[in-house]
Amino acid sequence: MFFYIFIVIIIILAFGLLFTLQSVNNELQFSKMKSNFMSTVSHEFKSPLTSIRQLAEMLVHSRVPSPEKRQKYYTTILQQSERLSHLIENILDFSKMEEGQKAFRFEKANIVSLVREVVGFFENHLADKGFKISLFVDGSIPEIVFDKEAMEQVMHNLLDNACKYSGDSKTVDVYISTKGNKVVISVKDFGIGIRKEDQDKIFSRFYRGGEELTQTVKGSGIGLTIVRQIVKAHFGKIYVESSPGKGSMFIILLRMN
Ligand code: ADP
Repeated sequence: MFFYIFIVIIIILAFGLLFTLQSVNNELQFSKMKSNFMSTVSHEFKSPLTSIRQLAEMLVHSRVPSPEKRQKYYTTILQQSERLSHLIENILDFSKMEEGQKAFRFEKANIVSLVREVVGFFENHLADKGFKISLFVDGSIPEIVFDKEAMEQVMHNLLDNACKYSGDSKTVDVYISTKGNKVVISVKDFGIGIRKEDQDKIFSRFYRGGEELTQTVKGSGIGLTIVRQIVKAHFGKIYVESSPGKGSMFIILLRMN
């Protein structure tokens, strides 16, 4: 009898120990991801700020005689400050969502126009880097209820990733169609792709894919977390289809009513 009780106690202790070790391990991993996040975010802030300061200094001190060059510098300053705004929006949204305090302003509107605007923004900014970003609209898409700012953030984050992780390819295709009572928005790239074991994890906060290229591409690991939270708040779904070396397609399903 005592022997069996002893065995049961040993088993319970072993499970307890295992559980504690696992929790400690998870906590350690999480705090490592958090500190990575802090350093990458600081770095992401630093590089556009440095470039804005240097270019502004040159302009202020009239060290740029050629008008074409001046125009180019103004454009770069504008682009870098837009990049900073989006980064700040992402961080603010992320912390609001973490605290459950993100408020949405839902209204019935044209989702195609919104997607077209964001695609146009990326086309303008990345054309000189050789990117071709195309939008394909299949049939007529009805107006749906969504938060404009939030969906703009979703499209911005997905297109930003599609370009960041595009490897040698410079093509990104966006599709909008309907399926049953859903509007389907897909962002497809032909880049580095995502390993099967990472495909669920990439939506978790601070998670960055393990591929070597991912580590050389700047990022904070919160973009897709925000995307998933926003899509969820719209009672929608998001999933990814991807194969390493071939590319990825992020698919969003939104309710029509
Ligand atoms: P970040 O890009 O800042 O690292 P995200 O949350 O946007 O953070 O993405 C999480 C991870 O998912 C990325 O680090 C990357 O490994 C992977 N990922 C996201 N989008 C793509 C894509 N289009 N192609 C390949 N990998 C991607």
